[in-house]
Amino acid sequence: MPVETHTALENAPVKGRFAPSPTGRMHAGNIYAALCAWLVAKSQGGSIVLRIEDLDRERSKHEYIDAVQRDFEFLGLTWDEGPYFQSGRDEAYQQAFDTLVEKGLVYPCYCTRADLHAASAPHRGEKLIYAGTCRNLTAAQRAQRELSRKPAQRLIVPDEVYALDDLVQGHYEQNLAHDCGDFLIRRSDGAFAYQLAVVVDDAAQGVNSVVRGMDLLCSTPQQIYLQRILGLSEAQYAHVPLLVAERNRRLSKRDHDASIDCLLERFKSPEAIVGHIAGITGLAPNCDPATPEQLLETFTIGRLSTCFDDLVQIQWR
Ligand code: GLU
Repeated sequence: MPVETHTALENAPVKGRFAPSPTGRMHAGNIYAALCAWLVAKSQGGSIVLRIEDLDRERSKHEYIDAVQRDFEFLGLTWDEGPYFQSGRDEAYQQAFDTLVEKGLVYPCYCTRADLHAASAPHRGEKLIYAGTCRNLTAAQRAQRELSRKPAQRLIVPDEVYALDDLVQGHYEQNLAHDCGDFLIRRSDGAFAYQLAVVVDDAAQGVNSVVRGMDLLCSTPQQIYLQRILGLSEAQYAHVPLLVAERNRRLSKRDHDASIDCLLERFKSPEAIVGHIAGITGLAPNCDPATPEQLLETFTIGRLSTCFDDLVQIQWR
């Protein structure tokens, strides 16, 4: 039986969030996801929190922290609270980590390269199912491995289904043991993993509406599991399609695909950028220049599940 999902939306005012990782300039896909988050919150009289996800200190760059805020402002994607920074939140993550340890759900993992990407959100295709290699090591085996390697930390998952009703994707579920495996909550260098940080922050910041790219749908059952064991409130989710470049390749910051500078060169104004993105994704009936405020006039939350032709991807053009 799937475990029932609970959402926090019924009573509290809606609070959405922008949660950019400052690892590059924004591209059309980031703008589209942020626009959806803004429209979903504002159309329900809600607010937006800005959280800079600079957990991965090597990949986060100071110049992008400033740039991403300027880009949101430029596009008319306003926020009401923040910015909060994940880099200043270790104490809160440590507390949650300690709770999980006390519950006997954490074990050290010595697998090499295991923690390579743990601090960043795992985008589509990056998720591996962990076989449980280090789960049942004896104390002696752990001591032996500790001599050559500092361990990362994994969270034990149950052989249970965790499900959600996504506003765009509908019902989605995973059996955590079969579809995910024990997952990392801390890297070997001590950095807390994305999955833990995002759950702790969404709860602490009162976020109850999570709107983000489809590639993070497969992380959501893990996040719901964490919310339940930590006794944190849950959110309403909407995972919107990804914008893709040629041959279905995801737009990427690294490849400077449809980056905001290129967009500005092509479209000349923030309204033209926002209007084009809204038009090709079906958020608006045409590609006419528009501010987010103007799009709000015709946007309704009910349209979110019907305004996309393809729920997985939309060709960037
Ligand atoms: N910081 C993540 C990213 O930019 C988003 C995480 C989330 O929305 O949960 O990919």
